[in-house]
Amino acid sequence: MLLFERTGRDYARFNYLGEWHSHPTFSTRPSMEDVHAMTDLVTGERSIDFSVLLIARLRFLRWLDASAFVFSRYSTPRPASLKR
Ligand SMILES: [Zn+2]
Repeated sequence: MLLFERTGRDYARFNYLGEWHSHPTFSTRPSMEDVHAMTDLVTGERSIDFSVLLIARLRFLRWLDASAFVFSRYSTPRPASLKR
């Protein structure tokens, strides 16, 4: 059963976090397609206030590059800063 069905589509309490994927051969910055898709997500009808996009890339089968960006209906996309 999907989360939204289990939680009664109470989007104010349980909502979508985001997406992740890899860019195996290019930068981990969001592509224009990524920006458009994430912007559509946070400005859509499911009341998603913000969403996170994580992009990773494995270089030379050894080093992991990763970036995270926050998309919000209230501001332009920006790099995510994770704090404890
Ligand atoms: Zn991408």
